[in-house]
Amino acid sequence: MDKNWKIETKAIQAGYEPKDGEPRVMPIVQSTTFKYDNAQCVADLFDLKREGFFYTRLANPTVDAFEKKMAALEGGVAAVALSAGQTASLLSILNVCPAGYHVIASGALYGGTVTLFSERIKKMGVTVDYVPANATKEEIIAASNDKTRAIFIEVLTNPSLTVTDFEQFSAAAKELGVPLIADNTFPSPYLCNPLEHGADFVVHSATKYIDGHAVTLGGVVVEKGGFNWNNGKFPEFTEPDPSYHGLVYTEAFPASPASVKMRVQWVRDIGTPMMPFNAFLCNMGLETLPVRMERHCENALKLAEHLQKHEKVSWVNYPFLKDSPEYERAQKYLRGGSGVLCFGVKGGKAAGEIVMNSLKLAAIVVHVADVRTGVLHPASMTHRQLTEEELVAAGVSPDLIRVSVGLENIDDIIADFDQALAKV
Ligand SMILES: *Cc1c(COP(=O)(O)O)cnc(C)c1O
Repeated sequence: MDKNWKIETKAIQAGYEPKDGEPRVMPIVQSTTFKYDNAQCVADLFDLKREGFFYTRLANPTVDAFEKKMAALEGGVAAVALSAGQTASLLSILNVCPAGYHVIASGALYGGTVTLFSERIKKMGVTVDYVPANATKEEIIAASNDKTRAIFIEVLTNPSLTVTDFEQFSAAAKELGVPLIADNTFPSPYLCNPLEHGADFVVHSATKYIDGHAVTLGGVVVEKGGFNWNNGKFPEFTEPDPSYHGLVYTEAFPASPASVKMRVQWVRDIGTPMMPFNAFLCNMGLETLPVRMERHCENALKLAEHLQKHEKVSWVNYPFLKDSPEYERAQKYLRGGSGVLCFGVKGGKAAGEIVMNSLKLAAIVVHVADVRTGVLHPASMTHRQLTEEELVAAGVSPDLIRVSVGLENIDDIIADFDQALAKV
C-alpha cells in the first residue's frame, strides 16, 4: 500500500496485496486452524516470537486483511476486529481500565453504550462519570479522580446527532495522561478520522456504514500508536504479564502495544473475535464506503431541508443544516452529516407514530446505515432501557423519529414521507 493514497483508493486497495497467482480478492479463510510442519513453529507462535496464524479466535487471514484496511482508513497503526460494536466499546475500556478504576464519558452516547457503562461494567468494578458533550476542558478534568484511566466520546451521537467537541476532550485527556477513545460509527472513516483530532483509539460498530447493507454485525478498535503508557498509570502495559511468560507489551510491541494486548489477553480469553465470513462482508462494504457515504449525505441533507419546510413537521435535526446548533462543529470535524437525521411531527409522539406506520418505502427497523431507508422511534425502541434523565442526557425527546436515509432516489424518499405526513 502507498501511504499517500487517498481514502477512496485505500478503501479498495489496502489490507490485502496478493502475490503472483494468488486470488485477486481476499478469500474467506473459513478455517479455525492452521497447519505447521513441527511443534516448535507452533510454540513460537504461542510465545508471540513468530508472526502467523494458528487459531481463528486470535487471528485469521481474512479478518487480518479487514483489520489492516481499517487501520489504513483511520490512520492508525493497528486494529482489532470484534464480534460486534458493543464488544469494541467494552474491550476499548477494559483494555486500559482495570476493576477499581474510572472512566469519564460524554453523556451524549448510543443507548447500548449507556447501559454497558452504567450497568454492566459498573458490576465489573469500573465506574463511569458523565459530562455534557459540550463540556469544557476544565469541566472534564473536574470529573476526574486519581483512578481515571480513559475518556470515551461519540463523534456524532446516535441518535441526538450532537457533534462532540474533540478539542476539549483531547486536551483534557492529554492533561490527565489517559487515552481518548472515540466511537466513530456514524461518520465512518470517510467523514471523520478522530485520530487526527487527538483521539488515541477509534471504536466502530462495523454493523453500520462499514458493512452498509445490514448483513453482518461487527466491531473494530483502531489504535493510533505513540501513546505514552510509561506515565505510571498503566502497569498492565509496562510490567510483565504473567499470562505470557512475563511479556512486557510496551517493550515487545512498542508500535501497537494496546492492540496486541487486547488480542492476546481479551479476545483470546473471552473469545469475541470477528468471524472470517463477517470480515469478508465488512471488507466488501468498505470498498464502496466513500461513494455510499457521499450519496447518504446528499440524500439526508435533501430530506432534512424538505422536512424543515413541511407544515406538519415541528423540528428537524441534521448537523449540516445551516441553522443547526451543530453546524459549526460539523464543518470543522466532518466531511458530511452522514445519512441519519431526526425530526418531530406536530402533534408529538402520537402523530409521529401515524407517520411511521404510514411509510411505505421507509421501513420501521432497529438499524441505521443501511442502503435501504429506515425509521425508528428511539424512546420506545433502542433507548427504552434508559431512565428519563439518561434520555435527556442522550438528547432523546419523546417525539424524536430517527431516519436512516438510504440510497434510493431522493424523489421517491421525499414522496414517501410526504404521503405519510399527509395522513396526520
Ligand atoms: C450500533 C452502535 C453500537 C453497537 O454496535 P453493535 O454492532 O450493534 O453491537 C455502538 N455505537 C454506536 C454509535 C452504534 O450506532
